[in-house]
Amino acid sequence: MSGKIGTVGIIGSGQMGGGIAHVAALAGYEVLLHDISPDRIETGIATISGNMARQVASGKLDEKIRTGALGRIRPATTMADLGAADLVIEAATEDETVKRKIFAQLCPVLNPEAIIATNTSSISITRMASTTDRPERFIGIHFMNPVPVMKLVELVRGIATADGTFETAKAFVNSLEKTVTVAEDFPAFIVNRILLPMINEAIYVLYEGVGSVEGIDTAMKLGANHPMGPLQLADFIGLDTCLSIMQVLHDGLSDSKYRPCPLLVKYVEAGWLGRKAGRGFYDYRGEHPVPTR
Ligand code: NAD
Repeated sequence: MSGKIGTVGIIGSGQMGGGIAHVAALAGYEVLLHDISPDRIETGIATISGNMARQVASGKLDEKIRTGALGRIRPATTMADLGAADLVIEAATEDETVKRKIFAQLCPVLNPEAIIATNTSSISITRMASTTDRPERFIGIHFMNPVPVMKLVELVRGIATADGTFETAKAFVNSLEKTVTVAEDFPAFIVNRILLPMINEAIYVLYEGVGSVEGIDTAMKLGANHPMGPLQLADFIGLDTCLSIMQVLHDGLSDSKYRPCPLLVKYVEAGWLGRKAGRGFYDYRGEHPVPTR
């Protein structure tokens, strides 16, 4: 555990919030998990439990450690339940309006010394920090998906982030045995600034009929040695998240090269959001994923 942080509050118990809760609890932190309904928190905790059970089955984790870690994750059904946290990591939907509302509700219940972090993939840390009562204790801690597997965390300082906040966040990330890379606060930071235009281009390649879903993924796996095809990866990230990131790049950098592919927009409008929705560029509802185009 890192010096000043004992209890970590997490807002959003989806793919990322759940993953962050998973690694924080394993590292010995007390975790308070919040979402919009008790059901969602319960589902989040059940997913964490299942993911840890898989780690036990593959010999990566001891059952006793799993039980201990799960015991450290407690549901926080109201925002006020996060009051005891030393660090709150916001990992809710990638929508600035949603995140701003969360910070407005969170600040009054939080200890003035507590640090607020956001796991946003793309939204300006400086702008979100400015809406809170503590821009100097606000920072971007950007985990990668799936959190228990991926080693990298981007740390993103807003213009007002204090050095002490940065150092505490860095110590926290190191205590989770992750590697920090520092990114400046520009749209989508480092990883997604490079990755998402590549994924968006793969969707254009599909949209223009240059290749099929399988053709594109096979091409990039075997032709560029990527461990996963770009469309498979898009489904994994979530197509709503991919679209939001492209919109942030497009708006924030005002360059047409970041124009979201209309086919990506169509999938999101259909609610085909990828793996988490059971369908995206692949249909996951059967035994094996089947391309949807
Ligand atoms: P997700 O859809 O799996 O989960 C989002 C969760 O936020 C849901 O459970 C939802 O109920 C909850 N939520 C929405 N509004 C809320 C509110 N007002 N209060 C509390 N909870 C609320 O999404 P995700 O993939 O976990 O992404 C979450 C964040 O992490 C986003 O900012 C995203 O950009 C970022 N991120 C995602 C990835 C990825 O690969 N998916 C990687 C890094 C960072």
